[in-house]
Amino acid sequence: MNSQTYMNFHGILLYRKDYKENDMLVKFITAESGKKMFFIRGARKRGFKMMADILPFTYGTYSGKINSNSLSYIYSALDTDHYENISSDIFLNAYATYIMSLIDAAYPDSVPILTWFNKLFDALKLIDNGMDPAIITNICEIQLLSQFGVQPELRGCVICGETNSNFDFSEAYGGLLCQNHFHLDPHRLHLDQKTIYYLRKFSVIDLSKISKINVGDTTKKSLRQLLDKIYNDSVGIHLKSKSFLDQMNDLKL
Ligand SMILES: [Zn+2]
Repeated sequence: MNSQTYMNFHGILLYRKDYKENDMLVKFITAESGKKMFFIRGARKRGFKMMADILPFTYGTYSGKINSNSLSYIYSALDTDHYENISSDIFLNAYATYIMSLIDAAYPDSVPILTWFNKLFDALKLIDNGMDPAIITNICEIQLLSQFGVQPELRGCVICGETNSNFDFSEAYGGLLCQNHFHLDPHRLHLDQKTIYYLRKFSVIDLSKISKINVGDTTKKSLRQLLDKIYNDSVGIHLKSKSFLDQMNDLKL
């Protein structure tokens, strides 16, 4: 049964697409009701009054009607703002779009996900404020793994629980192996200890408390390869936004 609620809600715009001749479908992640698709009548007409409030990379407070299992409506924008730097920089844009599509893929619509509303808000703010977008993206990717049903053991060795050792990552065992147990998996990933360090750190880091992270280029590259491997082998999703991001980064080299 469909229920309707008239309410003010906090939203971060995930994506928008044209609909019919003059209208638009806009997807938001809301703090109150999870991800919702909104039908915006007349959004593509000249002089549409909420034009600025539904631009890509906008967030804010809106008033509308939330339908539990059909399209929702926005009646007015109460207070909105944009991630300015993300909007104007095609690289930042590509990272932000990938993070948002990953969250979109990880959760069904209409399920409240306040934690990820807040994490996305913080992640985009950090990127907009000049924090390394590759690192912020890695943090989101690692912290979303459990939602995709992949929960690698990163606290210590999968076998013996050792937390202070040289570690490697084993896909077969689903997490870290300490050096006493390296022999169990000949296909372990042979990661360097810095990569392991950041993998563990990023799995528990609080995005709202980050002020500075500097990761060297070699480690960044290794983290990127590791996450690509985990997302390919264990998660098994291939997002268009990720291919686009990869292409962008190839051009940059
Ligand atoms: Zn062990």
